[in-house]
Amino acid sequence: MTFFNFLFKNSDLECPRCLGKGFVGPEDIRRLNRQLKWAPGPCAYCDASGKVTEELLSKVAVDTSYLTIDLPESEIEKIKNADPETIERGKLQELFIDNLIKYIEHQYLLKNMDAESIADLYLSTEDEKAVFSVEKENLLQYIRKIIHLKNSEPN
Ligand SMILES: [Zn+2]
Repeated sequence: MTFFNFLFKNSDLECPRCLGKGFVGPEDIRRLNRQLKWAPGPCAYCDASGKVTEELLSKVAVDTSYLTIDLPESEIEKIKNADPETIERGKLQELFIDNLIKYIEHQYLLKNMDAESIADLYLSTEDEKAVFSVEKENLLQYIRKIIHLKNSEPN
Protein backbone atom coordinates (compact mmCIF):
# COMPACT_ATOMS: atom_id res chain seq x y z
CA MET A 1 0.00 0.00 0.00
CA THR A 2 1.24 3.43 -0.76
CA PHE A 3 0.01 6.78 0.31
CA PHE A 4 -1.53 9.03 -2.35
CA ASN A 5 1.65 10.95 -2.72
CA PHE A 6 0.77 11.97 -6.26
CA LEU A 7 -1.86 14.27 -4.74
CA PHE A 8 0.93 16.40 -3.37
CA LYS A 9 2.77 16.53 -6.59
CA ASN A 10 5.71 18.74 -5.94
CA SER A 11 8.69 16.65 -6.81
CA ASP A 12 8.68 17.00 -10.55
CA LEU A 13 10.82 20.09 -10.85
CA GLU A 14 14.06 19.72 -12.71
CA CYS A 15 17.05 20.05 -10.42
CA PRO A 16 18.69 23.40 -11.17
CA ARG A 17 22.10 22.23 -9.96
CA CYS A 18 22.58 19.27 -12.30
CA LEU A 19 19.84 20.26 -14.80
CA GLY A 20 18.10 16.94 -14.26
CA LYS A 21 21.08 14.72 -15.01
CA GLY A 22 21.56 13.61 -11.42
CA PHE A 23 25.24 14.26 -11.89
CA VAL A 24 27.17 17.48 -11.50
CA GLY A 25 29.73 17.68 -14.29
CA PRO A 26 32.50 20.18 -15.07
CA GLU A 27 30.11 22.34 -17.11
CA ASP A 28 27.64 22.57 -14.19
CA ILE A 29 30.49 23.47 -11.85
CA ARG A 30 31.55 26.23 -14.25
CA ARG A 31 27.98 27.47 -14.66
CA LEU A 32 27.55 27.77 -10.90
CA ASN A 33 31.05 29.20 -10.49
CA ARG A 34 32.21 26.53 -8.06
CA GLN A 35 35.42 25.49 -9.84
CA LEU A 36 37.49 25.69 -6.68
CA LYS A 37 34.89 24.18 -4.41
CA TRP A 38 33.42 21.16 -6.15
CA ALA A 39 34.65 18.14 -8.04
CA PRO A 40 32.34 16.33 -10.50
CA GLY A 41 30.12 13.70 -8.90
CA PRO A 42 26.54 12.67 -8.13
CA CYS A 43 24.31 15.67 -7.38
CA ALA A 44 23.80 16.25 -3.65
CA TYR A 45 21.07 18.80 -4.20
CA CYS A 46 18.60 16.34 -5.73
CA ASP A 47 20.27 13.23 -4.33
CA ALA A 48 21.15 12.22 -7.89
CA SER A 49 17.46 11.92 -8.83
CA GLY A 50 17.44 14.93 -11.13
CA LYS A 51 14.21 16.13 -9.48
CA VAL A 52 13.65 18.51 -6.61
CA THR A 53 10.75 19.84 -4.60
CA GLU A 54 9.63 23.41 -4.43
CA GLU A 55 10.23 23.24 -0.70
CA LEU A 56 13.91 22.44 -1.19
CA LEU A 57 14.29 25.24 -3.71
CA SER A 58 12.89 27.70 -1.21
CA LYS A 59 15.01 26.41 1.69
CA VAL A 60 18.45 25.81 0.21
CA ALA A 61 20.23 27.85 -2.44
CA VAL A 62 21.18 25.71 -5.42
CA ASP A 63 24.82 26.80 -5.29
CA THR A 64 25.23 26.19 -1.54
CA SER A 65 28.89 25.22 -1.64
CA TYR A 66 29.04 22.94 1.36
CA LEU A 67 26.13 20.79 0.24
CA THR A 68 28.09 18.04 -1.50
CA ILE A 69 27.66 14.30 -1.91
CA ASP A 70 30.73 13.42 0.17
CA LEU A 71 28.97 14.49 3.36
CA PRO A 72 27.29 11.91 5.60
CA GLU A 73 23.63 11.45 4.72
CA SER A 74 22.55 12.83 8.10
CA GLU A 75 24.53 16.01 7.45
CA ILE A 76 22.91 16.41 4.01
CA GLU A 77 19.50 16.00 5.63
CA LYS A 78 20.33 18.69 8.17
CA ILE A 79 21.42 21.13 5.48
CA LYS A 80 18.23 20.48 3.54
CA ASN A 81 16.22 21.11 6.69
CA ALA A 82 18.11 24.33 7.27
CA ASP A 83 19.47 23.20 10.65
CA PRO A 84 21.10 26.34 12.09
CA GLU A 85 24.15 24.60 13.56
CA THR A 86 24.89 22.75 10.36
CA ILE A 87 24.40 25.86 8.26
CA GLU A 88 26.79 27.72 10.55
CA ARG A 89 29.44 25.01 10.26
CA GLY A 90 29.06 25.04 6.49
CA LYS A 91 29.48 28.79 6.36
CA LEU A 92 32.64 28.60 8.46
CA GLN A 93 34.03 25.97 6.16
CA GLU A 94 33.25 28.09 3.14
CA LEU A 95 34.84 31.13 4.75
CA PHE A 96 37.95 29.08 5.44
CA ILE A 97 38.15 28.01 1.79
CA ASP A 98 37.49 31.55 0.54
CA ASN A 99 40.28 32.91 2.70
CA LEU A 100 42.60 30.15 1.61
CA ILE A 101 41.92 30.95 -2.04
CA LYS A 102 42.55 34.65 -1.43
CA TYR A 103 45.77 33.89 0.40
CA ILE A 104 47.04 31.68 -2.40
CA GLU A 105 46.04 34.13 -5.14
CA HIS A 106 47.75 36.93 -3.27
CA GLN A 107 51.04 35.05 -2.86
CA TYR A 108 50.95 33.89 -6.44
CA LEU A 109 49.91 37.07 -8.21
CA LEU A 110 51.62 39.70 -6.08
CA LYS A 111 54.65 37.85 -4.80
CA ASN A 112 55.24 35.53 -7.74
CA MET A 113 55.62 32.53 -5.49
CA ASP A 114 55.40 28.99 -6.80
CA ALA A 115 53.02 26.36 -5.43
CA GLU A 116 55.61 24.67 -3.23
CA SER A 117 56.69 27.93 -1.55
CA ILE A 118 53.10 29.04 -1.02
CA ALA A 119 52.26 25.71 0.63
CA ASP A 120 55.30 25.93 2.92
CA LEU A 121 54.54 29.50 3.86
CA TYR A 122 50.90 28.75 4.53
CA LEU A 123 51.67 25.74 6.71
CA SER A 124 54.33 27.62 8.65
CA THR A 125 51.82 30.30 9.59
CA GLU A 126 48.88 27.98 10.20
CA ASP A 127 47.37 28.29 13.63
CA GLU A 128 47.97 25.17 15.74
CA LYS A 129 44.44 25.41 17.06
CA ALA A 130 42.82 26.11 13.71
CA VAL A 131 39.39 24.52 13.26
CA PHE A 132 40.33 23.40 9.78
CA SER A 133 43.74 22.14 8.88
CA VAL A 134 45.10 20.88 5.60
CA GLU A 135 47.69 18.34 4.56
CA LYS A 136 50.58 19.55 2.49
CA GLU A 137 50.05 17.16 -0.42
CA ASN A 138 46.38 18.15 -0.75
CA LEU A 139 47.19 21.80 -0.28
CA LEU A 140 49.80 21.63 -3.02
CA GLN A 141 47.30 20.07 -5.41
CA TYR A 142 44.78 22.74 -4.56
CA ILE A 143 47.27 25.56 -5.06
CA ARG A 144 48.16 24.16 -8.48
CA LYS A 145 44.48 24.07 -9.36
CA ILE A 146 44.05 27.72 -8.36
CA ILE A 147 47.13 28.77 -10.32
CA HIS A 148 45.91 26.82 -13.32
CA LEU A 149 42.51 28.48 -13.13
CA LYS A 150 44.08 31.93 -12.72
CA ASN A 151 46.18 31.36 -15.81
CA SER A 152 43.25 30.22 -17.90
CA GLU A 153 41.06 33.17 -16.90
CA PRO A 154 40.53 35.73 -19.64
CA ASN A 155 41.79 39.14 -18.52
ZN1 LIG B 1 20.63 17.61 -9.11
